[in-house]
Amino acid sequence: MTDDFQIPGFVNAHSHAFQRALRGLVEGRDFWAWREAMLELAAGVRTDYRAVFAEMRAAGYTAVGEFHYLGLDEARAAAEAAAAIGIELVVLYVAYARGGIERFRQESVADYVRDLERLRADGARVGVAPHSVRACPREWLVELGRYATAEGLPLHVHADEQPREIEECLAEHGVRPIELLADCGCLGPRTTVVHATHANDHELDLIADAGARVCLCLTTEANLGDGFAPVEQLCERGIGICIGSDSNARIDPLEELRELEGIARRRTGRRNVVSPDSLLCFGADEGAASLGVESWSEITIDLDHPSLRGVEEQDIFAALVSGCSAAVLAPVAA
Ligand SMILES: [Zn+2]
Repeated sequence: MTDDFQIPGFVNAHSHAFQRALRGLVEGRDFWAWREAMLELAAGVRTDYRAVFAEMRAAGYTAVGEFHYLGLDEARAAAEAAAAIGIELVVLYVAYARGGIERFRQESVADYVRDLERLRADGARVGVAPHSVRACPREWLVELGRYATAEGLPLHVHADEQPREIEECLAEHGVRPIELLADCGCLGPRTTVVHATHANDHELDLIADAGARVCLCLTTEANLGDGFAPVEQLCERGIGICIGSDSNARIDPLEELRELEGIARRRTGRRNVVSPDSLLCFGADEGAASLGVESWSEITIDLDHPSLRGVEEQDIFAALVSGCSAAVLAPVAA
């Protein structure tokens, strides 16, 4: 007997689809070596978005925020692929002023906004995404913050992933990355800070005061050796948390959530720091709110899957986040 159980689909609030091609490569080398390989890949890539989005859909994600820095044509290809696969897409179109490679960069904020407006005119759902305080100088951050606020768009930005980024920001601006974002008007209720791995107490207070969210990309942060997400510090402050598959080294929302709770348990020395219901909310509703998405498809739980053998109905959610992979999740047939 198959007795399927429907739940909201998971929401992948932070993805770089093209990095899926790096899976299994450059293991055993540091973050900055990985970044070099990623830049090399990005210079020539035409991503097979359909295959990557299909992998996400099969893993239970039914909405994705694609943090996109490969230019307008590739953004359009991503939008077409998402429509074909049936995954709700928000193109978090990236503003990139300096560093990286030429393909990532725009000449000015006006050029950036022109491309973003083209995507909106095509009917794509978009968000504003200053890549990081490394890639965007203060004047860009001020203009982008103002534009996102005026347009009511989500604003996503990488911050505090690696200690070196914080040192460079302190050297250039005399403040830490999230302090700079707050100074520049980039921290508000529609903001999602991606990573915040090395954020200090003051930076986390700023996020809480602004009503902003944090997107944790646990499997990528583990793969890249970024550090431990500050899970308890975020929860203590009531900061909304969402999840992202980021580099797509793994695509499995249940693994992201288990890693999140695993970090919290190891650090506090106790169990059940975040309840299964809250974890599922991080995996779905918080991600949707982060992306400004109001409706996205449901998924089903395969109750006949061997991973759920012997689990009572009231324990299914706990079993999902403690003991199952995405293999128990499936899209609802249209
Ligand atoms: Zn990222």
